[in-house]
Amino acid sequence: MTAPIGLLGGTFDPIHVGHLRTAIQAQEQLGLSEVRLLPNHIPPHRATPDSAPKHRLAMARLAAAATPGLTVDERELNRTTPSYTIDTLIELRAELGQQPLCFIMGMDSLCSLNKWHRWQELLEHAHLVVSHRPGWKPTFDDTLEQLYQNHGTQDRERLHRTPAGHIFLLDNPELEVSSTQIREGVRRGNNPQYLLPDAVANYIRQQGLYTGSVV
Ligand code: ATP
Repeated sequence: MTAPIGLLGGTFDPIHVGHLRTAIQAQEQLGLSEVRLLPNHIPPHRATPDSAPKHRLAMARLAAAATPGLTVDERELNRTTPSYTIDTLIELRAELGQQPLCFIMGMDSLCSLNKWHRWQELLEHAHLVVSHRPGWKPTFDDTLEQLYQNHGTQDRERLHRTPAGHIFLLDNPELEVSSTQIREGVRRGNNPQYLLPDAVANYIRQQGLYTGSVV
């Protein structure tokens, strides 16, 4: 069976080292053939002036260009309506046939997984690969605990042998960085260097993002 593909979804407003180290750790620990960054479509009522899709996409592209093994999957941004992760995974599963697919997320996302649309079906189409994040312990409620009991594994070969169905916790250093923290810092005039790739930091400065004046 071909090596699994990784998929890391997010708003990426902006993309930062927490996302990118997660992508690299997943690729190296699991032997992924590539990791695709999947910028999410944000519903208009949730969008801030900072989160224009063209800027989030441009920053994801700059980060991917600077990082071997990373690509950008634009499918959710190309749609006119927000899409649920389950719809994207079904679409990808149809494209990939039996090739394993690893949907990568932070521990905060796993802890709220049972609030996602049709969350019980996600594991029919992909494995879930989870990075540790400061402040988020893998302490699940009963529903998620049961899910983890049924699907958890630390054997990477099982993620290569089956197209979907396992939950794997990455062994990654926890990085105390978030997009919110970067946006707030830039708004206050702080330098975000080393929290994200230089190309992304330059883009934010050139475009005047997160200063409250740019759409
Ligand atoms: P915001 O602060 O705007 O909520 P964020 O920093 O959480 O943004 P997202 O784009 O929402 O970033 O995150 C996309 C995915 O990356 C999510 O699954 C999230 O859990 C994960 N992630 C984000 N930051 C980190 C981090 N520092 N370490 C590990 N995973 C992370």
